[in-house]
Amino acid sequence: MNKRTEAIVLSNTPLNEADLIVTYLTKDSGLIDVFAKSPRKVGSRFGSSLEPLTYSRIAYIGREQSNLPRLIQSDIIRPFHSLRESYRLFSVLSEALELTKRILPKHLPQRGPFQLLLSLLLSIESGKDERKQLIYYKLKLLKLSGFAPGLQHCVRCGKETSRFQLNEGALLCGDCSEGDGDYIEIEQRIKGLYNYLLKIRPAVLDRVKIEDSSLTGLERVINSHINYNIIERKLNTHEFLSSLKRG
Ligand SMILES: [Zn+2]
Repeated sequence: MNKRTEAIVLSNTPLNEADLIVTYLTKDSGLIDVFAKSPRKVGSRFGSSLEPLTYSRIAYIGREQSNLPRLIQSDIIRPFHSLRESYRLFSVLSEALELTKRILPKHLPQRGPFQLLLSLLLSIESGKDERKQLIYYKLKLLKLSGFAPGLQHCVRCGKETSRFQLNEGALLCGDCSEGDGDYIEIEQRIKGLYNYLLKIRPAVLDRVKIEDSSLTGLERVINSHINYNIIERKLNTHEFLSSLKRG
C-alpha cells in the first residue's frame, strides 16, 4: 500500500551503515516510524529532508502496522533551517519533539498534534517568544493526549486545594492524600493561567501577556508533571520490558 501525507521529522536514528529510521509526526496517520534506505550516502534523493524539524510531503509503502514502512519520497515544504541553526531555539524545540514522541501513541490518526506542532514551528520561526510558545504547546499536547491534569479542585472530594500530588498527576487535598508522596503547591494565579491557556487558540496566545514569574510557576508545575508521569514512568516501563527480555 502506497501512502502520502504531510509530515514533520521528529528524529532520525542510524541503522546499519547508511540507513535511517525516521520518526515523523504526520498529518493523516499520527506518529509513525519509517525506514529510509541509504539517505546517508552522498547524492541520496532524500537530500537534507530527513533532518529533525523538516516539514515535508512524504510517500511510503508498506502497511503502517507492519514493523517499518519504507520511505520512497520526501519533498521539502519548509526546511525550518533557522530553527536548527540556533542552538538556543533547537534546544527548546528538542524538548517539544521528545515529549511528542513519548506521549503520543503510534498510528493514531489525529490531526490536532500535527497542526499544533506546525503552528509552534511557524511561530518560533517568525520570532515569537519561544518560552511562551513552548509551554502552550506542552499544555495543549497534554490535553490532546489525555494527560492534562485538572487544576480546579481535589480530584477525590472536590474541595479547594493548592496541593498538586505528583504521583497522582492531580490536585489532592491534605485530607485525601495517603502517605507522603511528592507534591507541589500551586498558587491560585498559576491555576488560573493554566486553565486559561488550555482554552485559547494559538491566534489568541499572541495577544496574551504573561509575567515572567507566572511563566516560571507554570513551567515548574507542567515540567514536574511531565517528568514524573510521562518521562520517568515510560522509562521505567521500558527498563522493565528490557529486563524481561534479558531474563
Ligand atoms: Zn480531598
